[in-house]
Amino acid sequence: MPRAAELFMQEYSRGLAALVGLVCGLLLAARRFGRHRGRRPADEARRLRTLVDTTFDGLIFERDGRIAEVNQAMCRLAGSAGPTLVGLRLVDLIPGLVLPARIQDQPTEHAVVLQDGQTHPVEVLWRAEPDGNGHVIAVRDISRQRAAESKLERLVRFDPLTGLANREQFLQQLQKTLAVCERGGGTVALLVVDLDRFGALHETHGPAVAEQILLQTARRLTGTIRASDTVARLERDTFAIMQVGTAQASDTATLADRILTEMSLPFLVDEHPVTLTASIGIALYPSDATKAPDLLRHASRALRQAKQDGRARWRLFELRMDLQTRRKRSLESDLHAALNAGQFSLNYQPFISICSGDITGYEALLRWDHPQRGRIPPSDFIPLAEECGLIVPIGIWVLETACAEAASWDEPAIISVNLSPAQFIHPGIVDTVAEVLRQTGLPPWRLELEITESTLMDDTRNALRVLTALKALGVRIAMDDFGTGYSSLSYLRKFPFDKIKIDRSFLSDVENDTEAEIIVHAIIAMSRSLRLDVTAEGVETQPQLDMLQAHGCTFAQGYLLGRPCPADQLEQRTSAISRAAERHVARAT
Ligand code: C2E
Ligand code: CA
Ligand code: CA
Repeated sequence: MPRAAELFMQEYSRGLAALVGLVCGLLLAARRFGRHRGRRPADEARRLRTLVDTTFDGLIFERDGRIAEVNQAMCRLAGSAGPTLVGLRLVDLIPGLVLPARIQDQPTEHAVVLQDGQTHPVEVLWRAEPDGNGHVIAVRDISRQRAAESKLERLVRFDPLTGLANREQFLQQLQKTLAVCERGGGTVALLVVDLDRFGALHETHGPAVAEQILLQTARRLTGTIRASDTVARLERDTFAIMQVGTAQASDTATLADRILTEMSLPFLVDEHPVTLTASIGIALYPSDATKAPDLLRHASRALRQAKQDGRARWRLFELRMDLQTRRKRSLESDLHAALNAGQFSLNYQPFISICSGDITGYEALLRWDHPQRGRIPPSDFIPLAEECGLIVPIGIWVLETACAEAASWDEPAIISVNLSPAQFIHPGIVDTVAEVLRQTGLPPWRLELEITESTLMDDTRNALRVLTALKALGVRIAMDDFGTGYSSLSYLRKFPFDKIKIDRSFLSDVENDTEAEIIVHAIIAMSRSLRLDVTAEGVETQPQLDMLQAHGCTFAQGYLLGRPCPADQLEQRTSAISRAAERHVARAT
């Protein structure tokens, strides 16, 4: 019972005890006063009767195991008139009520048998009458309280929107089922079902529609399972199914397929069809885990995999997923120490002007040399640093180091620095850039910041404000990885870019895929019309460079022209790169 209810019950019992105490006291007083002051017993009886009838709780006067008297509240409670009750055996009205000689100090729970045979929950407390003949019994109706308790219990255990079991209840049930299986054998499959892009649906259609979708999802899921299986709503748009006694994993696969099919059917909300999909993660008892929380964790991990693999599908948990998660967590904890331990360094990769073959600038690329694991690629640790917020201090370090390095060069080459979305939306970004420029003395026009489209998508208005402020400092802005995201022309028009960088995936396809060449051509033409520079990334072969030059691309970057290298190798590399670049460009013209 919740603590508040417990306290309430204590108060409540005290009230009942006070009532029997009062009645006994009154009986005693009535007799004494009657004796001393010569009052007539009839008067006393009338007074006592009035008092007894005005109490809310039922009162029974018992003699020799039978009901000698009841008050009106007791009649109401028992649904019978007084004369019907008087003379009845007490145990016929309240079965199991035995009145022992000793004083009862805590109320006990019983049921009053109504005339129609139904029962009514009550609480009972009694005292022996002062003259030792019989008992006074106070009876309190607790049906409302029981109803409130069961309502409270429902609230604690069940999701109020869908009526399905909630997370706590489901985990308890799962644990119980697993315990039964442990003793008697058997298998359990846990499926975690999550709606895809529910946040976007909520934003587009509003909370009322989202609620309808959740309700209908609950109905559909309940409709797909057998009576022995259980559905629960774990959180917002995440549901779980416990499938008991699956003979084989293929049973679960069949259920998962059925759910995906069900969920892909349009939802009708206010007669409008809304389509969505769901993803499912599955973990099996006993092969994947034997404890309920572990099974849920594994199913959730499999769900994440399903989402990563493109959503609208199911994935079975595999041990490798758990290993990946553990590796990620341990990498994350190492990442916290890496900055102070000086494990980061920068590599610089040149980009050249296609028409002159000159090195125009360098892109700073972060490297992490882990003391045990060796060099970890940025694609592994940058997303992790973004997730845990470390990208902000790491990004400041990159900016300071790259700008200080560039400021020391004789040639006024451009230095390009990548900015993650998390860095970009960090409130201090403009001040940080201004401060780094001031400290390093690098002229602002030599700094180029590379951002991706995803940076602009979440909060366009803020992005425009930050970009405008950065531009006002005099730095250049490049759109990185163009062609991989939404590649929206409107972004190029709306935001003050200086350059776009064509993603290297187009270059790798260009030799075998005419469509890729058409896209590259279109991007170059579009950039020219918007007066933007274009860098093609990932140039690895001469034919790629030839093609870029033929289409009028301004800059090129890639292994053909120079691999990323540390700052101390830049000087000797630069001359070699320049010679190579000149040769390649000469060939291209
Ligand atoms: P990105 O900004 O697209 O960087 C270019 C990536 O392409 C670099 O990989 C580079 O080494 C690689 N690359 C250059 N030329 C070629 C080529 O000819 N062929 C191929 N196959 N690859 C080439 P890297 O250094 O592994 O960086 C990967 C990504 O990590 C970067 O992609 C960028 O998104 C991120 N990153 C790197 N450094 C930083 C940083 O300091 N801050 C942030 N926020 N992100 C960074
Ligand atoms: Ca980049
Ligand atoms: Ca890029």
